[in-house]
Amino acid sequence: MGLKREGMVALSPDRELLGYWCSGCECLHMVNVASDMRPRWTWNGDVNKPTLSPSIRTFWQRTGEAEQTRCHHFLRGGVIEFLSDSAAHQLRGSHPLQPIPADYGGVD
Ligand SMILES: [Zn+2]
Repeated sequence: MGLKREGMVALSPDRELLGYWCSGCECLHMVNVASDMRPRWTWNGDVNKPTLSPSIRTFWQRTGEAEQTRCHHFLRGGVIEFLSDSAAHQLRGSHPLQPIPADYGGVD
């Protein structure tokens, strides 16, 4: 995918896609922060304490599992705030963003 680490996030070369590590799902969540694509999130431009708006609600499927799971959170000031309707994992409440693991594939 050609994402490059910058601070606590990873960005595509055109800076239209932003990825960050979700400590609940233990995977990268990616959002579009480009101006002319939908859906789109507003990003404060801070790579160390990113704020995205609105909240992020993702549906994904772990290999080998039959059902999709849901992760719903805010990312504000570099802190993930998991919402109560996150079915993907047990994490609730506020968790500071963790660095993207060094060996995570697809991120330079
Ligand atoms: Zn997640």
